Order: sequence, then structure tokens, then C-alpha cells
Amino acid sequence: MSKKNSAMKRNAETRKSVPPNKATPKNKANSSQTLFKNLKLAAQDFKSTQEKMAFIIENEKFVWIGPQNKIPKNLKPQKEHDLKNQLVFPSFIESHTHSIFAGSRAAEFEMRNTGVSYLEIAQKGGGILSTMRKTREALPADLLKKTQNHVDQFLKQGVSTLEIKSGYALDLKNEIKLLQVVQKLKGPTRFIPTFLGAHALPPEFKTHAEYLNYLATKVLPEIKKQQLAQRVDIFIENKFFEADTAEKFLIEAQKQGFQLTIHANQLSLSGGVDLALKLQAQSADHAIHLTDDLVKKFSQSKTVAVLLPAADLYMKCAYPPARKLLDAGATVALATDFNPGTCPTQDLALVGLLARLEMKMTLPEVFTAYTKSAAKALGIDHEEGEIAVNKRANFISTNADLEDFFYSAGYTPDHLLFICGDRVKRT
Ligand SMILES: [Zn+2]
Repeated sequence: MSKKNSAMKRNAETRKSVPPNKATPKNKANSSQTLFKNLKLAAQDFKSTQEKMAFIIENEKFVWIGPQNKIPKNLKPQKEHDLKNQLVFPSFIESHTHSIFAGSRAAEFEMRNTGVSYLEIAQKGGGILSTMRKTREALPADLLKKTQNHVDQFLKQGVSTLEIKSGYALDLKNEIKLLQVVQKLKGPTRFIPTFLGAHALPPEFKTHAEYLNYLATKVLPEIKKQQLAQRVDIFIENKFFEADTAEKFLIEAQKQGFQLTIHANQLSLSGGVDLALKLQAQSADHAIHLTDDLVKKFSQSKTVAVLLPAADLYMKCAYPPARKLLDAGATVALATDFNPGTCPTQDLALVGLLARLEMKMTLPEVFTAYTKSAAKALGIDHEEGEIAVNKRANFISTNADLEDFFYSAGYTPDHLLFICGDRVKRT
């Protein structure tokens, strides 16, 4: 099987699997062992590095990791790669994006900056509903091309796994269209699709409750039938989808077998985080407004706080209390929130830089937030996010130091990216 076919097969398996992201089945054509040697390995907590390390990959996973003078005699790798003392660490996982949409809202940004209110922008045909109209009208082939460009921008920065939310079509036919386009995206990136029909109220519905009932009874069953997504997201905020209305919908989504993630507490203490913790959602995202009690409850839960500081920069919001969450022992991930309205950047370096400057996260915490904790936010930490035996062999190899990352906005140091043990060729 060629590498291309192997990558396509891998993505097909990822997308069709129920429950999500089960381990890649063994692939006989790829069952030989490959030794990667002479490398400097970042510690699991990114606080130090160890030289003259090596690992062996078989069937797309790490099967052995250790000092290169201690390779077990029973392992007989057929191939060898000398990494020439390059630094190696896990590749990045981008766990919150709205990467599929049509049109642009760049002109709106200037309006907002010159003092035009959201309401006026909406009245002039702008805002999320303008993206909705363009996305509904868009042909699948055009959406595929545009979204593939976004995927490639992430891939260039060392992102091996990418979450993509629907949510700019807001009706059965077109939300399904978006999720079907996500299935057609080309790897080797691993895609985690999330259904975000509950993003905004479309003009066809008078109340949020009515629309959520439509999503639960008409749209979710179709997504399930076509196996287009395993996760459901919702934007919970006062005067939008309120927590009590959302709860009924989210419980129904769970009953239908979906995992949950919630846009929570971005603008106020909306009850979104409380609900995420109560329903054991995989993540509560934004999490800007938190009481000390909520921070404590977060730390006692398995729900990951996915923080999105680039969106906070664009929205001129407060930044989330990352330091309090981490000091309490909560799991914190970082992501871009890439979307056409409130965060039109795909820059991981900017996200990490803001986390360091504005949220007082240490560099090792930023690396952990973009690897292991991001995997946990997506419910795939048993499969990837670390350089560890039985995990997917997704890693970055570079002549740069850890300190060179998340330092200069818009800049990713030169590196090689390996996904499931294969080197990714990027233009
Ligand atoms: Zn978002």
C-alpha cells in the first residue's frame, strides 16, 4: 500500500469509527519496525530534555522508547533514521476551530474598530448570519477547497490533529453538507468533527428552545445515521442558548451517544461551565468568567478547560484565569478558536504567546496544553498527545530549542513533522 493510500485509509478509519477515534487497526503493509536514533527527547512535562535517546515505531505507534545504547535485543528494526541530535516532542493538537465556512468578515472588523455596534452590523446584513447565508449557498467543492487551505495552514505549524466544528449553516441539509465536506478533507491530518448546530438562532425559528428541539429530533439522528460526528457543541450564554434550555438538548444528545463540549462562560457567569461539569462534558471552552468555586469544581472533574486567548484578544475580553485553574490542578488546553468573525487567525504561536504574557502560563504548561491536554479535551488521550509506548507516532523534530516556540507571533521554527511515523511533506 502506498503512503498516500495508507494515509487515506487511516482517515477513513478515524472518521467512520464509533465510538470516536478507536485505535488504528494493525496494517500489515506497515508492520515493519523503524528505529529513530540520535535524538534529544523533551521530557513528558517539557521541563527538560534528554540526549542520545531513540525510539522504535511499528504499525504507526511507538513500541519502545529509551536510551539509544539500551535498545532491547529482541527488537530488530529493519529501517533506521538518524535525527542528528534534533529535539523531538509530540506534534500539536488543535482542539477548537470553526475552520469550515464561506465568505469573509474582514470588512466588518474595520466597522467594529471604528465604533459600529454589533446590532448595527447585524442590521446591515453582517455578523454570523451573513456567514450563514454564504455557507448555505456554497457548493461543497468550494467549501472543500477553502477548508483544505485552512487545514494546510495548521499542518505547516506542526498540527497533526485538528478539530473542526460545523455551525455556520444552521439547517439540516447544510449542516450535513458541512460535515460531509469535513469527511472529504485530505490527510495526513487526523480530523475530529464536532456538530455545532446550536451556534446561533437561524431566522426560520422564533425561539432557541424550538430550534434545539429541531436539532435534537431531526438533525442529530441524521448525523448519527451517517456517522458524521461523535461530538456535540453549543454556545451557552445569557440571551442566546441559556443553560436551562441547553440542558435538555445536551442530555438528549448524550442519550443518542454523542460526547459533549460547550462554549461556556465567555461573556458572563452563564451557567455553561456548571452544566459542562454536571454532564461530564469533554471540555468547557473559553471559561473566562469563573468563580473560585467553579475553579475548584473544574479541578475535581475530568472536563478540560480549553482556553482561547487569541479570541479574547480580538474580542477585547478579559483573559481566562489559567493560573488559578492550573494551580488548583485542573487540566488546561489551548486552541485558536479560528473562525471568520471573532478570531480570524490560525496562529498557534500567537495563542501560546498570549498564554505566556497575559495568562502567566509557563512554557512547559503551554506545550502540555497544546499536546497531551488538547488530546484529553478531544477524548483521544489514550491514543495520542505524548511520546509514549502504544501512542500514535506523531512528533516534531527540530534543530530549534523548546524556548524558540510560542515566542514570536506568526513564526514556527523550522521542523519536520511525522504523523503515524511517516514524515509529512509540506510545501
Ligand atoms: Zn469557538
